[in-house]
Amino acid sequence: AGRAETATTTTTCGYCGVGCALDVHTDNAGVVSVTPTHGAPVNRGHACVKGRFAHGFLRSGDRLTQPLIRSAGRGSPLRPATWEEALTLVAAELTRIRDAHGGQAIGMICSARATNEENYLAQKFARTMLRTNNIDNCSRLCHAPTAAGLGASFGFAGGTNSFDDLDRADCILLVGANPTEAHPVVGSRIMARVTAGARLLVVDPRRTALAEVADVHLRGRPGSNVAVFNGLARVLLEEGYADRAYLEARTTGLAELEAVLHDHNPERVGEIAGIPADSVRAAARLFGRAAHPVIVYGLGVTEHLHGTDGVRTLANLALLRGTVGTPDGCGVLPLRGQNNVQGASDMGALPDVLPGYQKVAEAAVRERFSHAWGVPVPERPGLRIPAMFGAALTGDLRALYVIGEDLLTSDPDAGHVRAALAACEFVISQDIFLSRTAEAADVVFPAAAFLEKDGTFVNFERRFQRVRAAVAPPPGVRSDFDILHALITAMGGDPGFPDPAGAMSECARLTPVFGGISHGRLDAEGSLQWPCPDRGHPGTPTLYLEGFATVDRRAALAARPYLPPGETPDAEYPFVLVTGRRLAHYNTGSMTRRTPNAELLPAETLDLAPGDAAALGLSEGDPVEIRSRRGHLVLPARPTAEVAPGQLFTAFHFPEAPTNELTSRHTDEITDCPEYKVTAVALRRA
Ligand code: SF4
Repeated sequence: AGRAETATTTTTCGYCGVGCALDVHTDNAGVVSVTPTHGAPVNRGHACVKGRFAHGFLRSGDRLTQPLIRSAGRGSPLRPATWEEALTLVAAELTRIRDAHGGQAIGMICSARATNEENYLAQKFARTMLRTNNIDNCSRLCHAPTAAGLGASFGFAGGTNSFDDLDRADCILLVGANPTEAHPVVGSRIMARVTAGARLLVVDPRRTALAEVADVHLRGRPGSNVAVFNGLARVLLEEGYADRAYLEARTTGLAELEAVLHDHNPERVGEIAGIPADSVRAAARLFGRAAHPVIVYGLGVTEHLHGTDGVRTLANLALLRGTVGTPDGCGVLPLRGQNNVQGASDMGALPDVLPGYQKVAEAAVRERFSHAWGVPVPERPGLRIPAMFGAALTGDLRALYVIGEDLLTSDPDAGHVRAALAACEFVISQDIFLSRTAEAADVVFPAAAFLEKDGTFVNFERRFQRVRAAVAPPPGVRSDFDILHALITAMGGDPGFPDPAGAMSECARLTPVFGGISHGRLDAEGSLQWPCPDRGHPGTPTLYLEGFATVDRRAALAARPYLPPGETPDAEYPFVLVTGRRLAHYNTGSMTRRTPNAELLPAETLDLAPGDAAALGLSEGDPVEIRSRRGHLVLPARPTAEVAPGQLFTAFHFPEAPTNELTSRHTDEITDCPEYKVTAVALRRA
């Protein structure tokens, strides 16, 4: 109280993928308060407990403020170093490993928490300085199946419509998402639509706040999505709710889909998913009768062994109703987890595509980038994150450069990740705090947070928005952009531009779908949704009005049968653990736990059904040991009807409660996204 602001900076929230515009009020000592930007198109004056209040971590006493190196090798402690010393060491080690073993021996993991310009520079650094396509980002762990699935069905690797289309939706099919906690501004918008009379259908194993008010809640077993979506599709077709004219004119694959649906009547789907067949019919009828149905989904669809199949069979439902690529259709909206998951992938921080999803495998694409960069882009597609860990353990990958990720807390089967990091000759971590991964690194670079830097993010509706530094980083701290820029120079290269605006200009020149994006336009116009091919283009709120972005301009219906998840409960591991997020915290909690949000949720719990708790003699707060085939941990029990019998729920926000010691290495067959949503575990009172 009593602090008078001296400046206000408008920027974009760095937490979830909604991308709320925020006004950050500062004085000479730092951030005074954060308020939602009045009139912003995304959040319309709203913001949640993370965006508004979780900024105190900026001034946390344990911020990294100088580089750390392990000058006496592995086993010796990390010690402070000058920037010159650390950059010289990293440049020398990466050059040595590249020259001795080739670029394939180095991997780079970039971040959905970094700006577009930082991701652009990171992938350029990997391809031009390290000479490898071994660059990936944390979308691998969450929405890679969205990019693959929506890309295969419709053409582009992004949501089809805009958040604003929720305003006219008269039926919302919400799948595998709890936006009330993970994307609160969307959660409240959905609740407002329901209050205004829209029907709500929820497909989720948990009884979330929105499931409580749903017209139909399909509470299927974790891992049963494809069966449920196929069951809904079958009813839509059988009962005459499909738009046959649209299907005929704008899609392919209907006969193949109908053949697969032959085996997916509501009774069989009900058996697979553990839900009443009549509920499947009731949900399909509500979706079928709606004039403007919308599909909103989250990681409960993607983080599965068959995650891409889940996205594609869900997309089928929108196509059957003809609600994609039409002026009054509301389409399919994936809720991205981290703020810049869309942008990190859009910028080509992926092993098989350059910016704008231009394929590394296409010679003409490589030629264009090689010509612009003056260095040949490697032809061989790179390794995905799980394959990087595998290659480290076989000795094929010798160095790993990790930006903004705590792999040991966020990636599945932490014991495997630990072994992979230990097997690398050289690990670099770039972060705000000394994470568990940074503790295991050979060099740690102190990086700036989103309120301290300049650039852009892309939200879940393909919207580019500006990120602006509201405060300077602490002395000694540099942005990811500045660190990469300096490292390229230290390795004898030329970054090609002096600042983030220059990076976006270069990206726009080389990437047709972003051709009209620039910092200048964003400053003048507020935001732009891609595709935006030229400087006169207004951006694209709704995709595919002129046809799908496929070779034949038609969308591809997906004929995919239900297949079981990687693990199913058995006598030894009789429960299914689902992991997710909670309202007060964000990802590995490194930022939110250093703010007053920690008082809202000071520690993790294991949520379980009251009946299961009673059977085990567990009351609220009792310690319970959770054991999987890979590891174990102890958490306090929290009996709650949110969780179905036989299932469990916990989040991954607390490194001291490392949930990912339990999770498995089963990954989506198409994209390698981990199956975080299905882990067979056993319980006992600790
Ligand atoms: Fe908005 Fe998400 Fe930030 Fe909350 S965390 S303010 S919903 S962008």
